[in-house]
Amino acid sequence: PDPEAVFRLDGVVAGYGDVTVLRGVDLSVRPGEVVALLGANGAGKSTACAVAAGDLPVSAGRVWYGGADVTGWPAHRRAREGLFLAPEGRGVFPALTVEENLTTWLPEAADRERAFERLPQLAARRDVLAGALSGGEQQLLTLAPALIRPPRVLVADEPSLGLAPLVVAQIFEIFAELRDRGVALVLVEEKATSALEIADRVAFMRLGRIVWTGPRDEVDAERLAEAYLGVS
Ligand code: ATP
Repeated sequence: PDPEAVFRLDGVVAGYGDVTVLRGVDLSVRPGEVVALLGANGAGKSTACAVAAGDLPVSAGRVWYGGADVTGWPAHRRAREGLFLAPEGRGVFPALTVEENLTTWLPEAADRERAFERLPQLAARRDVLAGALSGGEQQLLTLAPALIRPPRVLVADEPSLGLAPLVVAQIFEIFAELRDRGVALVLVEEKATSALEIADRVAFMRLGRIVWTGPRDEVDAERLAEAYLGVS
């Protein structure tokens, strides 16, 4: 195991009922490092995110965070201690306003004002119900608290899914800023697009296993074909 990792899945086996999805997943990330977790639909990426966040128990293996074994920690404790999951589909409260959503993460008004200064699109819509926002605005709302109070680890599941290119660029600028501030990032994507550009390291998942991990520089067309299709 990487002694510099701030977060690590170690031999994780997990699934739903009798269905095993993760079949021994090892994945780690260092402070200030971006890991792109890539793989086809159904490979188990979202399941790995759920295990990381504490939303799904493991049946074998351990989850390490900041040197502690957090396998048994509930999701709220992991979140409170700085392990943040931006779930697929954003995870905002649709029936609360933008500001009310922010308040759940940023109870202090001054912090919310800083978030609004940083993200003027949200400031203009602070009293609008989050469910009425565009997908891009919802993603910005999900990430806003991290900009003001950076977590130690941020796991983002399909952060650019269905979003316009301009807002995707904005979201990846936020990831780059967080990385520069020392946050460890795991960016999950089905297609190797935006996440690959920013990644230091890539991990390919297939059928519940990490089938290859290495520096981004070593990822070429041949490697991509092998990772996604199992051909070389
Ligand atoms: P996607 O891009 O579709 O989210 P993924 O790589 O994230 O793909 P998962 O969502 O982790 O993959 O799904 C892996 C497998 O687990 C799939 O076969 C899926 O059908 C199954 N699965 C996911 N969620 C559940 C659930 N709540 N109950 C039962 N099976 C599930």
